[in-house]
Amino acid sequence: MSKITIAIDGFSSTGKSTVAKQIANHLGYVYVDSGAMYRAVTFYAMQNGFIKENYFNAEALVANLKNITISFKFNPQLGFAEVYLNNRNVENEIRTLEVSNFVSKVAEISEVRQKLVEQQQHLGKQGGVVMDGRDIGTVVFPHAELKLFMTASSETRAKRRYSELIARGETVTYEAVLKNVQERDYIDTNREDSPLAKAEDAIEIDNSHMGLQEQFDKIMQLVKVTLKKQV
Ligand code: C5P
Repeated sequence: MSKITIAIDGFSSTGKSTVAKQIANHLGYVYVDSGAMYRAVTFYAMQNGFIKENYFNAEALVANLKNITISFKFNPQLGFAEVYLNNRNVENEIRTLEVSNFVSKVAEISEVRQKLVEQQQHLGKQGGVVMDGRDIGTVVFPHAELKLFMTASSETRAKRRYSELIARGETVTYEAVLKNVQERDYIDTNREDSPLAKAEDAIEIDNSHMGLQEQFDKIMQLVKVTLKKQV
């Protein structure tokens, strides 16, 4: 059976990556977390002093993009591929609220997007990929056979993100997480280059009141219908 490309876009903390991993594992497909790539670039900028509190030297970051290599390595214990920045595993370090607070500003830069989109297209060129992000169905894989657009209320999303960060041992307040989710939504939706938007042919899924199993079953149903159309 031919392998399809599944593009999952949507707002921050809509549970895209959770369901994308489940679907990829179930189908034996590759899962690519495109947000992790933008986070890794942001982490690089922080480590190299291009980002400090209230300071962002975008020119210096752009000039150094050639020194940034991002890769993924499958971790069999976790069941997904972790992200590496210049051969160092940064999977945990890129998930902090500090990185979240800058990542959308980094993701606005066209040179950054160009570099990462090129790599994303390369990773998915054989098909058999589930990729989540903000512009996967619109820019990275406009011809993806299945496109999903995930939504949920900002409060529901902030609650999910807050629980995740607390479980990781971070000291954060719910209000700070909600502010971050709303700010990222605003920047991601309003930026000039590849703004977050539902592709015309994407299927919208509001999971505010959906359990993980229900969501997985619904999406697998859509996958089966799409796969049937291929043969
Ligand atoms: O998916 P995640 O929340 O980890 O993404 C972090 C940020 O990376 C987003 O808020 C957005 O600014 C940026 N991003 C993007 N395009 C993608 C994936 C993520 O601009 N395809």
